[in-house]
Parts: sequence; C-alpha cells; structure tokens
Amino acid sequence: MEMGDTPMVDKGAFVMLGSDDYFLRQLAQKQDFERIKDYVAWTMHAAQAIAVKVVNPGGISAFKFNQRKLDLDEEHAYYHVTPRQIILTLARALKELGVTHPLHIHGCNLGIPGNVETTLETIRAAEGLPIHLTHIQFHSYGTEGDRKFSSGAARIAELLNKSPNISIDVGQVLFGQTCTASGDSMRQYAISRSAHPKKSVIMDIECDSGCGVVPMRYRDKSFVNALQWVIGLETFLLFEDPWRIFLTTDHPNGAPFYFYPHLIRLLMDRSFRNDMLEKIQPDAAAQSILKSLTREYTLDEIAIMTRAGPARSLGLKDRGHLGVGAAADITVYEDNADREAMFATPELVFKNGELIVRKGKIVKVVQGATHVARPDFDRSIEKPLDDYFTRYHTVRMENFKLGDDEILDNGRGQIVVQPTRARAS
Ligand SMILES: [Zn+2]
Repeated sequence: MEMGDTPMVDKGAFVMLGSDDYFLRQLAQKQDFERIKDYVAWTMHAAQAIAVKVVNPGGISAFKFNQRKLDLDEEHAYYHVTPRQIILTLARALKELGVTHPLHIHGCNLGIPGNVETTLETIRAAEGLPIHLTHIQFHSYGTEGDRKFSSGAARIAELLNKSPNISIDVGQVLFGQTCTASGDSMRQYAISRSAHPKKSVIMDIECDSGCGVVPMRYRDKSFVNALQWVIGLETFLLFEDPWRIFLTTDHPNGAPFYFYPHLIRLLMDRSFRNDMLEKIQPDAAAQSILKSLTREYTLDEIAIMTRAGPARSLGLKDRGHLGVGAAADITVYEDNADREAMFATPELVFKNGELIVRKGKIVKVVQGATHVARPDFDRSIEKPLDDYFTRYHTVRMENFKLGDDEILDNGRGQIVVQPTRARAS
C-alpha cells in the first residue's frame, strides 16, 4: 500500500516466504506438495504480489530459536528442515504455478567470509530449476589472504556462465553513507556492531518474518568495503550474458539507487574505473584482478541489463522494448562521453507514451500501475488458513488480504495482471 502511494513509477511486490510459520509447519509435517503450492499461490493473491522472495531461507525463523547461523544443509532447531529443502520447494512450486519470475533468493550466510562455498553449493542445489540469486556480491566472499577476506567473484561467475537456469543481480557497494534495511534479521543483528552511526533496529513481524535497519557508511579506505566494491565490479565484468544479470545496488543496502549513473560509468568507462581503483584501500586494490579486466559495457548491454532483461525476467511482455504494442515507457538521453552525467539527467522520460519529465524536471505527475501475478489454486486452503489466522495472528485472514479496491483507490491506482503460464500437466 505504501508502494501504491508512490507516484510516477510502476510497482510490483515480491512477497517473502520461507521463514513463515505456516510454510515451515507444512514442510515439517511433510504435507502434500499440492497444498504447499496452494499456500504459495494464496499468499501471492493475498499480498497482491508479482513474485516470491526467500530471505536467509529458514534463518529468520531459526534466529528466534537462538540459532545465529543456518547453512544450506543445516537443520532448523525446531522445524528440522534445511534451507536447501526450503529453496527447492519454493522454486519448484513457482515453476509449477507458472509464475514467470523464478524464486528470488537472498541466500544463506550473507556477508560472511567464506560464503562463496555456500553460494556455489546453492547454484548446484537448484538442480536446473530456474532461480534468481539476488545481491550476489554479498554472497561471494572467500577467506584467502592475510586478512582472511577475498573475492570469490571469479569462481561464481565461472559457474554461473555455465548455468543458463540462473539469473543474478549484483548488489554493488558504492562509497558513502547509506542505511541498510533487510528482512534478514539474523544477519542484520550480526552487522549491527558495524553500524554507522551506532544505532540499529532489529524487530520481528507477527512471528512470521523479520526486519533489521542498520545505518552503514562504506569507506573507500576500509579494506573490507573496498574489496566489496571490487567484488561487485568483478562480477559485472566476468559475467557474460547481459540478459541474466541486472544492475542493482540492492537499494539501499549497497548504495542508494540514485548512484546508478555512477555505477554505469564504472562499467562503461575503463579509464574512469581504473582511476577509482587507484583511490581505494591499496591492499584491496592489489588483491584484485579488476585492473586486468578490459571489458567496457556497451550501450546495448546497459539497455538489456537495466530494461529488457528485467522486463523479460518479470514477465512484463509490453515493457523493455520498442516494438508494436509496447507500453512506451521510454527514457531519452543526449549522448555524452561522461556516462554518469548522461544517465543522471535524461532529456525526456515518457510513461505510457506521455511525457512526464523534461530536462530533469517533472512536467506531469502520473500514478503508475501495480503489476501482479495470480496463479490458480485450490480455494479449500482457506479453511485451515482461516483457523490458523484466528488462532495465531493479530489480524483475521480476511483482513490480511489486500483488496483490489485498496490499490485502485477510487480510480487513482491501476492493477495489471501479468499472465501465468498454463500448467504443464
Ligand atoms: Zn536481500
């Protein structure tokens, strides 16, 4: 509903599953897979979501049972299920439900040196199922070197280049002050020691999820921060297929989204990148292969990575291209060798064919639509769910559901239902 109040842009929600009590009970009780699929689809309808995300699979729940880490094959102390089971179940459910965007995975062990092994294992664990690995930079850390912190980007990129079922976004770190916000309360609690300024909020939501807000200042003179910057850029430059990698800073966690023009320049302009490399903490620079990577992204590749690729991945058939019938969400730039300046101030922005921005100034305010996916499911799931809500939640099931009228808001908002593929069987 907050997104519904945000003007100018289209919206789509990724509903978070995997540490919610109802789902974990289903898994622990070995319920019929069809019932689990019904619950996943019901949740997408109730939350008006277009996709499903899993964050630290099972780990947010495990944190409440005093576990401080949960690796891919480690059992949840209470439910005795593993992150691997959670990932495979949700990924398979979404595939069978025909939801276009695959399971969006924020994996185990975010930010922990050595987590590259977990990430490689997660890629193999997918067993060919389509999955999306989000902010992979935070999951690509090795333990080499004097400081036991190194880049795992090359190993990850090598395996991903051979794994066409997997897409990623990077979660690039850029230097400056930001404020991290994540459902991963287990990992947010751990990093709250490095909060800058020294404040944090770690909270629980209805015993079904988590939330952690930790302010963070990434410094180019910090070895760890500089290496995080390097690892993100190595990932971009070593990953070959622009259709399977999306340009993100994991806003606001690696940097705010308005740093994107700066990031695009780092990718398109090798001499600029090398100048920046000179300025970072020298041990991190010395450890990096970045200098040897000569690749410069082309405009075509940037357009695919920021427009066409994400649109295809989300199943938005009328976005991300200029063909007949497309929605005409178009940004027009004036060519400028300084790509940061060029991308920071578009000449014109059109939304559904209407001019809304001219030379960086808004000339018309539009609301934007909410995109949802509504896979079929068996409505009888509402019987046990209703009982569950009545017994355990502070809201009733009927009140939990977000109604169309709440988004439509007397004609202010708009809902676009994206098609789900028909079931294979
Ligand atoms: Zn995340």
